[in-house]
Amino acid sequence: MPKAKYMIEADTHCHTVASTHAYGTIGENAAVAKEKGLLMIAMTDHGPSLPDGAHSWHFYNSRVLPRKIFGVTILRGIEANIMNTEGELDLEDVYFRDLDWVIASFHKQTFIRAGINEHTEALLNTLDNDLVDVIGHPDAPVYPFDVETVIKACKAKNKLIEINNSSFTVRKGGDVMRSDIIKACMKYEVQVVVNSDAHCPWDVGNVSRSLALLEEHGFPPELIFNAKAQNIAEYIKAKHGRDIT
Ligand SMILES: [Zn+2]
Ligand SMILES: [Zn+2]
Repeated sequence: MPKAKYMIEADTHCHTVASTHAYGTIGENAAVAKEKGLLMIAMTDHGPSLPDGAHSWHFYNSRVLPRKIFGVTILRGIEANIMNTEGELDLEDVYFRDLDWVIASFHKQTFIRAGINEHTEALLNTLDNDLVDVIGHPDAPVYPFDVETVIKACKAKNKLIEINNSSFTVRKGGDVMRSDIIKACMKYEVQVVVNSDAHCPWDVGNVSRSLALLEEHGFPPELIFNAKAQNIAEYIKAKHGRDIT
């Protein structure tokens, strides 16, 4: 059977019971990933500042995990909170020691909604942080920002931007922003990651709505960074010197 043009091999944004409003263990997530043919998943639980966030030790101790569970490569990650316009995150640098994959996101409990200028400033400062790999769910309608400026900064700083499948249900009203982000990524050839943001194992790998939207826009499949798990493995090898496969 020919491979679909729009697909992913790695789901790089998944939660576990370490974020207490998620419902699966890392083993359960990996089992579903294997069943769906994914080669890699990331464990990206919420940073400590959210009420359901994992303790900082959760991130510091992640090196005890096996690299593969049921044959699926496990990225040790975090969905950190952008705390202010300086782009500070809610985990001290030392706790990032063994993390492979860092998503930084706005959440309403940790970043008080401000204006376009403040959101743009926060994202630009976040992109200046070497620890950060991805801006998570940038299509939240409560956090409008200057899309052109931020997407150009992603290009300049070699950062990824997420097309988050959960946004279609939990961030209603983000359609225009989402499309503007996709169009700007096409214009400036910025790579995206297409993720489920699964909060239960059955949602791992569920990115159908994001992929359908990208296809609708005629988005170049080669700009979908997690279409190939190897892209991520090579990126982590180059950034951290770690062989994760
Ligand atoms: Zn989030
Ligand atoms: Zn999330």
